[in-house]
Amino acid sequence: MDISHLVDKLNDAQRQAVTAPIGPALVLAGAGSGKTRVLTHRVAWLVEVEGVSSQGIMAVTFTNKAAAEMRARIEHMLHMSTAPLWIGTFHGIAHRLLRIHWREANLPQAFQIMDADDQQRMVKKILKAMGLDEDRWIPKEVVWFINAQKDAGLRPKHLKDEGDMTRQQMIKLYAAYQDACERGGMVDFAELLLRVCELLRDNLDLQAHYRRRFQHVLVDEFQDTNAIQYQWLRLLVGPEGNPFVVGDDDQSIYGWRGAKVGNLLQFQKDYPRVQVCRLEQNYRSTANILNAANKLIENNNGRMGKNLWTSGNDGEPIKLYAAYNERDEADFVVNRIRNWVDKGGKRSECAILYRSNAQSRVFEEAMISARMPYKVYGGLRFFERAEIKDALAYMRLVHNRGDDASFERVVNLPTRGIGQRTMDIVRDYARANACTLWTAAGACLQTLGSKGGVSLHGFMLMIEKMDQATRELPLHEQVDHVIAHSGLIAHFKNDKNGGEARIENLEELVSAARGFNADTAVSEEAGEMTPIAAFLSHAVLESGEGQADAGEDCVQMMTLHTAKGLEFPLVFLCGMEENLFPHSRSVNEPTGLEEERRLCYVGITRAMKQLFLSYAESRRLHGVDNHYSPSRFIREIPPELLEEIRPRIQVSRPIYTPQAYSSSRNSKLIEETQNGIRLGQRVKHGKFGDGVVLEMEGQGTHARVQVRFERQGTKWLMLSFANLETI
Ligand code: ATP
Ligand code: MG
Repeated sequence: MDISHLVDKLNDAQRQAVTAPIGPALVLAGAGSGKTRVLTHRVAWLVEVEGVSSQGIMAVTFTNKAAAEMRARIEHMLHMSTAPLWIGTFHGIAHRLLRIHWREANLPQAFQIMDADDQQRMVKKILKAMGLDEDRWIPKEVVWFINAQKDAGLRPKHLKDEGDMTRQQMIKLYAAYQDACERGGMVDFAELLLRVCELLRDNLDLQAHYRRRFQHVLVDEFQDTNAIQYQWLRLLVGPEGNPFVVGDDDQSIYGWRGAKVGNLLQFQKDYPRVQVCRLEQNYRSTANILNAANKLIENNNGRMGKNLWTSGNDGEPIKLYAAYNERDEADFVVNRIRNWVDKGGKRSECAILYRSNAQSRVFEEAMISARMPYKVYGGLRFFERAEIKDALAYMRLVHNRGDDASFERVVNLPTRGIGQRTMDIVRDYARANACTLWTAAGACLQTLGSKGGVSLHGFMLMIEKMDQATRELPLHEQVDHVIAHSGLIAHFKNDKNGGEARIENLEELVSAARGFNADTAVSEEAGEMTPIAAFLSHAVLESGEGQADAGEDCVQMMTLHTAKGLEFPLVFLCGMEENLFPHSRSVNEPTGLEEERRLCYVGITRAMKQLFLSYAESRRLHGVDNHYSPSRFIREIPPELLEEIRPRIQVSRPIYTPQAYSSSRNSKLIEETQNGIRLGQRVKHGKFGDGVVLEMEGQGTHARVQVRFERQGTKWLMLSFANLETI
């Protein structure tokens, strides 16, 4: 057989990993060294050379986007359908298993997935029922506690309060939450994994079946697996199996959510026969970009250590832009992207990366006013918008009356005279009788006062009618019907504040349903589900990651976490400010700070050709103006790799003019002049040696000086970074 197409475009180390004899394997290597490429080639190799049936292969990764890309790459290599291959995210594959084995997993067939919002709603309800104060028991923190336990594989019965009253209460809350989920047939994200682990652990027949079936399980981004994911892998593969995992300890960025980079070491203990491969050549980035990343990450301790080099050329220096505020930053980015496109580049080659979702809004506004198509991954995407969740809650309730979270959400939306008093009675009944809200509502109809009772009865009749009317309809007509009869459209028509946009979104939901194909949705076991069930699950699983691809060429926007594993010719790393990045949560905490640095390493190494860093001198975020100093990560990049860009609007003006003194920032200016930096001043720079100041301009953190160095020629330097000493 001609296998040259499988190994031709690999270097020696990669080829060794791809063609390794069957057995457990670990590829431990830095960013852009071809780990994902090795993994996809390995799949093709197994099928074509080792003769493994594609039914026997499972490939796991972290995002749906990465999974889709992986599938496309393998399809391209194999020239055959990859449908029998199981490729997906941990959650997607767990979901698929539970859809097939709902009986064994002790779930109702129509079980539904809850997202973080549903979870919080559920917790609030429980707090209320238990008479606990939300100020003392913050719902978000309770959810966090519950998820952390599940991620560690722990049920309430495994937990000890250790004499700690707070912990004792948390455990009680977890138990009550879990009961409510079981009653309503609801499964949260962490539960998907935990449930599958328990299923495989307790059902030895199933365990044996899957171990026989999936002789080849491959995992990308292994450094970010948490306890339950690793346990899942162990159960699925078994001690005698042949897991093939690839990862990079320097890119471990989910420690805050329980990921254990130690799994890389544990794996080598659990599979003593493991073949460890290291890849050292980076194929993605220019030398400047790669060197910046290498230098930055050297500031971390306790790394597994690796050497990463490229044979490519230096490329452009990394550009640093100091913006006045967040809008200036966004305009700058839009302009640069426009230049890129004018020169024939694609918008989809440009990525805007930021630390937190809230930063996307300003960029979105700038994109909209520049009429530049864009796509946001992560953050508040389509399926997470309130009105979409309202409509989906109706759908879910029609589909499964036991869905308490949906019941709560829409019972009085739009308002139909079902007040808190009525709902309290229903909730009390549900709690006392351990039943769903729907059942409780039915039972309470008699006892409720006439007004509440009639309204509630009307609501229940409406849901029943919707169910009957939509049963035989195609999916998108079901959605259309439910939206039209729920009263949501009329409700939003009255809303002068963005109601119109909400109605458009609801209409968009009907189109989403029309375009939905249960057979190709990565995460679905199509045969096992009705289209509506598949669609609703898809809506929850997808909402982590963005809208369906309309095929339009658009700028890519996402958080650094979402960018893992991806690459783009042009990358903007924005908001490089202390307290934003590194995040304020982590600046005073060494392990947190190191994780932020790894995140920065991930960001830098996404760039192939050109990288821009930017920070804003003043930033309005969450409605407050902040003045943060530039991120320490900028300073950790060697200055010779950085080129500072003059702010566009700034006129060149000496730093010490009366004009500048009278500006609002003169305290800073005086400081700087007090530092002794003047025109003609002799200065010393750590890298470039001795020189003379030729020119000065800008103010505050924008202040720049031009220095003629004796050996290195003339350079513009940012005063706040250059650490110039006067001589
Ligand atoms: P990350 O750590 O960011 O996930 P990775 O190690 O998975 O990166 P890949 O995404 O597999 O790296 O590869 C990075 C880029 O280098 C891709 O564009 C890939 O096609 C290219 N590449 C990898 N190996 C080779 C090779 N031997 N020849 C040419 N290009 C290669
Ligand atoms: Mg990769």
